[in-house]
Amino acid sequence: VVVVGAGFAGLAACQVLATEGRHAVEVVVVDRHSYNTFQPLLYQVATAGLNPGDIAYPVRSYLRSHENVSFRLGEVVGVDLDKRQVVLAEGEQLSYDYLVLATGATTNFFGVPGARENAHAIYTMEDAVKVRDRLAQALEQAASFGPTGGGLTVVIVGGGPTGVEMAGALAELWSLEISTSFKNLEKSAARIVLVEQLDRLLAAFDQPLSRYCEQALWQRGVEVMLGRSVKEVRPDRVVLDGDEEIACKTVIWSAGVSSGALADSMQVGKTKGGRLAVEASLCLSGHREVFAAGDIAGATEDGGVLPQLAQPALQEGRHVGRQILARLSGEKETAFSYKDKGIMATIGRRAAVAELPSGVKLRGTLAWLAWLGLHIVFLLGLRNRLAVLLNWAWRYLWWKRGNRVIAGV
Ligand SMILES: Cc1cc2nc3c(=O)[nH]c(=O)nc-3n(C[C@H](O)[C@H](O)[C@H](O)COP(=O)(O)OP(=O)(O)OC[C@H]3O[C@@H](n4cnc5c(N)ncnc54)[C@H](O)[C@@H]3O)c2cc1C
Repeated sequence: VVVVGAGFAGLAACQVLATEGRHAVEVVVVDRHSYNTFQPLLYQVATAGLNPGDIAYPVRSYLRSHENVSFRLGEVVGVDLDKRQVVLAEGEQLSYDYLVLATGATTNFFGVPGARENAHAIYTMEDAVKVRDRLAQALEQAASFGPTGGGLTVVIVGGGPTGVEMAGALAELWSLEISTSFKNLEKSAARIVLVEQLDRLLAAFDQPLSRYCEQALWQRGVEVMLGRSVKEVRPDRVVLDGDEEIACKTVIWSAGVSSGALADSMQVGKTKGGRLAVEASLCLSGHREVFAAGDIAGATEDGGVLPQLAQPALQEGRHVGRQILARLSGEKETAFSYKDKGIMATIGRRAAVAELPSGVKLRGTLAWLAWLGLHIVFLLGLRNRLAVLLNWAWRYLWWKRGNRVIAGV
């Protein structure tokens, strides 16, 4: 079995194949990174609340106790479905009997002129570190300009969970930095603008939770612009519909998701957003030896495509592992069924929203504590959990921060 992608879905599939199928299959996991990235906390790396190593876990360490699983570092650039081979960037091919595609998703700039060139995404660890360095550099430049900062403005495009979490964390970062390390800057020097095309933030959540989130951001000094779309991103400004311009040198793009180059290159059925269309058992029609799981897969439930979130990825990955073992032992395949565990997003210290499948809706400190606890539980590795706990205690209890380093500049 070749598993492409060591994210939530790929590693969940591996876990099943390595334990329940340890005498039945030989697994090769391929990823372009040697580590697994815990994407839900990338924005905390981007805002210097956590270090990159706190949310990354080496794939080889994760797999070390499984004798039937090996790891291969490499970028998969194509799949030859007829020859049953995956093609690596260096030209090498890996043959498979079964293939699991779990390469996740990537940023979608929707063809907005200048967005790809001038805006920063937060999809990978490299992205997050670049944003962190850019923000730290912007603060230093503003401080050398004088008390008004000379235009220390950041525009965040997209009011879904990533945009909201980024805006809240950045507001906290700057408020703290200006009151401690950059006392020569006036508070009003730093401006954060969150632009959302829809008429509310967090569209997947209940209306009152969206309103709470909007208020919490305004209270932290974030300007929320609803019902506005970005027409163009230039190196020194963002152009909105109606030709309104916001002068800024730092733009963070959290407006959309696409399935990435590998999915695009495959001549198979696709769902909305370019995700791979899958049958009920999560295999591809016409190529039943190929399975897809996680963000790349267009798995459906009650007629709708499942959201691109960690829980569907984990559950789909496990399901795919079990389907492969079922096929090998001649058992019947089963249809994937998603168990909804709810959704949550945080705005910052003591402010979060959560919607549970039971219909219970939480906001404020309780939701925030639930958010902190769940993220610790789902992180890979004890060292990372302890590191994140320590960093959060430092940040939220003592309200201090010590990671703001301009690296590589
Ligand atoms: C900033 C951010 C915040 C998020 N916050 C939340 C949240 O709060 N809650 C939530 O539930 N979800 C959140 N998500 C979504 C969640 O992280 C994803 O749904 C989940 O990671 C999908 O898992 P996956 O296994 O499909 O893909 P990923 O976890 O993205 O893993 C894909 C893996 O494939 C590898 N890969 C990709 N292409 C190739 C290739 N061509 N060759 C080799 N390897 C390749 C990548 O290196 C990666 O390791 C967030 C996502 C982002 C980006």
